[in-house]
Amino acid sequence: MLQGPIRDVDPEVARLIELEATRQQQTLRLIPSENYASAAVLAATASAFANKYSEGYPGKRYYQGQGHVDVLENLAIDRAKALFGAEHANVQPYSGSPANLAVYFGLLQQGDTILSMSLPHGGHLTHGWKITISGKFYNAVQYGVRREDQRIDFDQVAELARAHKPKLIVCGASAYPRIIDFARFKAIADEVGALLLADIAHISGLIAGGAHPSPFPHADVVSSTTHKTLRGPRGGLIMCKAAHAGAIDRAVFPGLQGGPHENAIAGLAVALAEANTPDFRTYAAAVVRNAQVLAEGLLHHGFDLVSGGTDNHLLLVDLTNKGVRGKVAAQALERAGIICNANSVPFDPRKPFDPSGIRLGTPALTTRGLGEDAMRTLADWIAAVVASPDDAQLLEKIAAEVADLCAGHPAPALN
Ligand SMILES: *Cc1c(COP(=O)(O)O)cnc(C)c1O
Repeated sequence: MLQGPIRDVDPEVARLIELEATRQQQTLRLIPSENYASAAVLAATASAFANKYSEGYPGKRYYQGQGHVDVLENLAIDRAKALFGAEHANVQPYSGSPANLAVYFGLLQQGDTILSMSLPHGGHLTHGWKITISGKFYNAVQYGVRREDQRIDFDQVAELARAHKPKLIVCGASAYPRIIDFARFKAIADEVGALLLADIAHISGLIAGGAHPSPFPHADVVSSTTHKTLRGPRGGLIMCKAAHAGAIDRAVFPGLQGGPHENAIAGLAVALAEANTPDFRTYAAAVVRNAQVLAEGLLHHGFDLVSGGTDNHLLLVDLTNKGVRGKVAAQALERAGIICNANSVPFDPRKPFDPSGIRLGTPALTTRGLGEDAMRTLADWIAAVVASPDDAQLLEKIAAEVADLCAGHPAPALN
């Protein structure tokens, strides 16, 4: 049992893995937070490092047997610092959400005020949304986008900052298709004596690849996931100025977490090396270009895009003018082999569980080598599905065409 392949030891789980791999192979994944990690990243993640406990930090551990772990974790730290130009990096956060919680825990006292983007305008749950620990333990004041152009309302950010004197301003988003002006956030933070956290969970790969401006040197602290555009294993990452290194490290461990997932850190080290290549710069540029071509195609079909288009890897489509709810569209698209998620749009009159829009992103498709022609075809398919979401025959026909396109562009590490 300890040696056999998974299909002998646990055929039930083996079958689910195969089915999921086939699904990921045969459908177009447009969820902007998803990607395909490389075979090397997945191999590192499923390595012997999964078996090791290493509470503490390199050179300061609570268990023996850390010779290789320490070298590995230092390698990941050095690669993160070099890739992003950061003074300090902590590679231990289990994911993006605990990374943000560790930042708050390290820099704030319970009840302190943070100023952040609201969830319905594109922010993340962990930026102080009321039902989360970040909203219950801290006093979150929230900014949003302007009604006219659906871009971040910096007048509002500045006004709220002056009125509420937050200890921390949070910028970065999960559903915002435009460039984040980190320098402008920093100027407001400086004016009111706040620290600036840039949460680059979605765009860290674009930043690493030079396709989005960097939060350094503006932000005091930068948090990220490692599995979105950065194309690493599932995990989190915090980088900061040297002045905050001690507070951040203590907040991650022992403040919030126990033993780090050194196997994920191994995968991250590999992903950071991959991201520090000319190929990855080409990839990051192609992600943005693909999103823009997809946007042009959708505009051509009369779709209403939040902010009118995109500067990054994602689009938010407001389906109100099409008379179709986001959920209905997302479900019909899934039947046609196109996987996305329903999403609120700014000032959405509908409820978050039944919102007016869908969110589309190009990181995963670009990893598969799909280019501009495919984006134009995709826009045509999406338009056809949204026009006739109940036409079973049409959905089936498109699903077959999607599977054909996918067969010509195999996903890495799933073959
Ligand atoms: C995805 C995301 C997170 C949370 O990451 P998880 O790994 O899902 O916990 C945090 N912040 C932003 C902006 C995100 O998009």
